[in-house]
Amino acid sequence: MPNPALPITLCQRSRLSGVDFDHLGFGDVFSDHMFRCEFTDGRWHSAQIVPYGPIAMEPGALCLHYGQAVFEGLKAFRGVDGVPRIFRPDRNADRLEQSCARLCIPPIDQELFCSAIEQLVTVDEKWLPQRRGESLYIRPLVFATEPNLLVKASDRYLFLIITAPVKGYFSTTDGGVSLRAEPNYTRAAMGGTGFAKTGGNYAATLRPGTDSVEQGFDQTLWLDSRDHCFVEEVGQMNIFFKIGDTFVTPPLKGTILPGVTRESVLTLLKDHGEKFEERPVSMEEVILAYDRGDLQEVFGAGTAAVIAPVSRISYGEKTLNFDVSPENLASKWLYQTIVDIQTGVTEDIHGWNRIVRTDANTSRPVESVRF
Ligand SMILES: *Cc1c(COP(=O)(O)O)cnc(C)c1O
Repeated sequence: MPNPALPITLCQRSRLSGVDFDHLGFGDVFSDHMFRCEFTDGRWHSAQIVPYGPIAMEPGALCLHYGQAVFEGLKAFRGVDGVPRIFRPDRNADRLEQSCARLCIPPIDQELFCSAIEQLVTVDEKWLPQRRGESLYIRPLVFATEPNLLVKASDRYLFLIITAPVKGYFSTTDGGVSLRAEPNYTRAAMGGTGFAKTGGNYAATLRPGTDSVEQGFDQTLWLDSRDHCFVEEVGQMNIFFKIGDTFVTPPLKGTILPGVTRESVLTLLKDHGEKFEERPVSMEEVILAYDRGDLQEVFGAGTAAVIAPVSRISYGEKTLNFDVSPENLASKWLYQTIVDIQTGVTEDIHGWNRIVRTDANTSRPVESVRF
């Protein structure tokens, strides 16, 4: 069921002309409009698009005290044909539902989620950057607004979607990312909230993340909370190892964020007839494979960077180095393939893109674009 058009209040004056598209950051400039929807009296209502701006909230709002809040992250791309495409919003809608369920937040209709994003991208279409690698980052967020100091599930919520034109995430991606395996702190424990995209998980990573950066690393490599020996994920990405001719990634067992990029990579590996396994990977196995010369490559997968090749892993006294320059690395074709699908360069055989109809393209059939 397509959702009806949302009420729109346009901003008085666009801020677009003040944006330096040659020096985009990652989410420090926001587009002119945002979506908002409220939950009160047991239902979601008042869905609309309004100018981006501050929101009024009570200091007693539950989210500020006990962190009852979840978010999502996805991207819209301008295709080589000029047409905006949103990458797999249905998967984010699904994950938001899982996150909301874990945090006792009332579910959001998946079609409302997708349709709101589509209409917001249409309104701020001019904010979509043009160059390869650049995109419009989309950040849906849901948080508890009931003023109450009891530790309880809120009876009021706000659901917002904001967007930001962004460059590729890591300035260092070309040279690969360096990782420090964290020996003490962990990101998530069994039975906790590791699989949910909720703010508290990220607050807990700031201390070790800062330590990693101070010691000269880009990101923290998370190990399991019980034994500190199995690899979980890296920063805000899922991780893949190529051991011999097999790609290995840790399984989704509650402590790992189920990444949409991870899922896309697994599908592409299958399409290409590559061998892959979802199973626990210990640092011991990684080091043994490295020492035998069997560890071909390591890369992270997430919406922000798409695919980030890993150049170095430090684990206690041990340092593993990887040459990320060869053109035949799997991380390179995976990156190319995903970006080519996102930008309409290659055929979207799995139907991952949600094509945005704008005034400019409603007149011609987008499906007939040639590859
Ligand atoms: C968002 C996120 C990922 C990647 O998920 P994508 O859907 O691919 O962007 C991986 N790990 C963590 C901790 C994340 O927050």
